[in-house]
Amino acid sequence: MELRRLLVTGGAGFIGSNFIRHVLEQRSDASVINVDLLTYAGNLANLKDLADNPRYRFVRGDVCDRKLLLELCQEGIDAIVHFAAESHVDRSITGPDPFVQTNVVGTHTVLDVATVSSVGRTLVVSTDEVYGSIPPTEYAAEDRRLTPSSAYSASKAAADLFALAYFGTYELPVIITRCGNNYGPYQFPEKLIPLMITHGMRGLDMPVYGDGLNTRNWIHVLDHCEALLAVLEKGTPGEIYNVSGGVELTNREVVDAILAALDLDQSLVRYVADRPGHDRRYAMHASKLEREIGWKPVWGFEEGLKETVAWYEEHRQWWESVQAGDHQRFYEE
Ligand code: NAD
Repeated sequence: MELRRLLVTGGAGFIGSNFIRHVLEQRSDASVINVDLLTYAGNLANLKDLADNPRYRFVRGDVCDRKLLLELCQEGIDAIVHFAAESHVDRSITGPDPFVQTNVVGTHTVLDVATVSSVGRTLVVSTDEVYGSIPPTEYAAEDRRLTPSSAYSASKAAADLFALAYFGTYELPVIITRCGNNYGPYQFPEKLIPLMITHGMRGLDMPVYGDGLNTRNWIHVLDHCEALLAVLEKGTPGEIYNVSGGVELTNREVVDAILAALDLDQSLVRYVADRPGHDRRYAMHASKLEREIGWKPVWGFEEGLKETVAWYEEHRQWWESVQAGDHQRFYEE
């Protein structure tokens, strides 16, 4: 199947921008329309290097805007890669409404438009957080019961279920991927790794939730992007694929690795009250993806973290302007 003309949603965010760059580099015949609302998390500076690329076009818009998505699909779209979401768990605790709107209503709109426009393939980018906390020694497989604990993970679980329903009811060729925690360049500095790196670089305290022993599955964003491309091209419609970097670390271990990379001592670490509903452990294998599609992560955590720290050191202006909210002021109409 030809998958040359892609509609990417949420491509001005962290993973979406890395994915667009990766696809345009890896597939010389691919073109991308990026539809993004430019919420606080969207930043066109993430794609500045592509601004003049004839195979790339940006459209500012909402994934809940059915008319806009229908118009874009009429231009001839082979596949949709759906990243657009509210993605930060802490924000979903203080204000869940936009999570329901973008993650549930927005995903439903994308699925509906893909169905009526007969789009050849739709990829819904989901998360291992939909499985909820996994007991020690267990690993989530794709058919595990979903027990989300936050409004973020509940909204992502709902989106996944809508995708499966569209496959069942309308035979929409949709595929779901569920990935662990990503890290790498262009990640918004409210997420654990860039928050700690930028705090460390500024000599600020590094706030760690609870006892610091919550465990996450980490993957370099470029390994995730390669998995998405592989699933898009070789995955089976109606299927779910876990995407794991095979690295399980406590938050405290991550912070210690960042302290070491920045040559800082432990005195910056400050334990803070735990997040409500904080899942203790996420854990899964990507054995289905490895077996059926032949994908494997190539980035080791130590090497990936070192490069990520170096990227934040070299792109101080990028994250300082994001932390100051300048990227928002610049794009306000
Ligand atoms: P992000 O917050 O960095 O980016 C989200 C993007 O979506 C932003 O550019 C934002 O402007 C855009 N957006 C938000 N609401 C929109 C709307 N209504 N219409 C159009 N665009 C809208 O998120 P991310 O970390 O890049 O995550 C991308 C996707 O991957 C999300 O669906 C997320 O759930 C999923 N995911 C993320 C991780 C992770 O570790 N970051 C892990 C697994 C899955």
